[in-house]
Amino acid sequence: MNDSEKSPHCGLFLYIRRGDAQDCFTENFTTVLSDDKLGAIIRQMEKVIKSYGGKTEGIMSITEQIKQIKDDKNAIILAHYYVADEVQEVADYIGDSYYLSKVAKGTDADIIVFCGVSFMGESAAILNPGKKVLMPDAQADCAMAHMADLEKIAKMREKYEDLAVVCYINSTAEMKTYSDVCVTSANAVKIVKNLPNQNIYFIPDGNLGRYVAEQVPEKNIILNDGYCPIHAAMTRKSVLEAKKRHPKAKFLVHPECTKEVLAEADYIGSTSGIIEFATKDAGEEFIIGTETGVFHELKKRNPGKKFYTLTENQTCRDMKLVTLEKVLDVLKNETNQVTVTDKLRERALVPLNRMLELAK
Ligand code: SF4
Repeated sequence: MNDSEKSPHCGLFLYIRRGDAQDCFTENFTTVLSDDKLGAIIRQMEKVIKSYGGKTEGIMSITEQIKQIKDDKNAIILAHYYVADEVQEVADYIGDSYYLSKVAKGTDADIIVFCGVSFMGESAAILNPGKKVLMPDAQADCAMAHMADLEKIAKMREKYEDLAVVCYINSTAEMKTYSDVCVTSANAVKIVKNLPNQNIYFIPDGNLGRYVAEQVPEKNIILNDGYCPIHAAMTRKSVLEAKKRHPKAKFLVHPECTKEVLAEADYIGSTSGIIEFATKDAGEEFIIGTETGVFHELKKRNPGKKFYTLTENQTCRDMKLVTLEKVLDVLKNETNQVTVTDKLRERALVPLNRMLELAK
């Protein structure tokens, strides 16, 4: 008896015939399917049906359910550019951390479903405490958000009397409470330039800190050794190889990458900056040095242009933990609510509000 005979064996089979055209789609499985896997199969089947001009109501009901519950509960969905394409598609607002934090602060919705990682949900809960902020996956976290030493911050403050601790928004709420102002990659240079302080301790991202230091040479910017594992893994060698493969392409990169990678760039900027640049630029091919989720918006806005990855490994595992099924689940059951104590909120709100003020 072989393995398939021993195991329970199920499958889905879809056969479509229209005129002379025909197609079939099969999916076999021998184990119980997770919701995520089942959702992915259903979406694939929906694409096949739609490609033949068919209607898929009743099969692909998950997005409809999400929309319905969202309306019933006065909820909004915010999605970072790094989450999966289909999650971006159900979102009311898609953007980078700076844009989404402004939306979170200004919304009059009762529920905010934040499709991103934990520091984003925390920031939304801090900026708009009257709202229920729900995370589709409570485990989705940003490794870099934890990469700063609170004792070291205290020592720096002792050493430099006029020190400003500038905290990248990709940080825990606790880290923000030790900071004077938050920044995002879209506004870091502007804010650091405008601060009255001469000495700046930039946490947690050393790469973004170094990039800001180069743009603001008149200040003493002390760097921390935190980094984003996805952006820091991109190498100069991989840039040169990608340029060889696509000699006409411009290289657009996020400042979380290393100095050597940034040195090869035609444009350096936040995710929204990269999207803007590619959309306005006359070029038709671009190599993109940031997380792959951004390709969805790039392709949507620029259907005639070509976008290439730098390496095969440009995906943030945590961002991809957010799925449509989990969005539906938290909307239905109102689970995974972000909670921040009043004390933490009051202290973390100061640098976040200062960022929104200084970035105007
Ligand atoms: S891509 Fe990097 S900075 Fe962004 S959430 Fe993932 S680990 Fe954090």
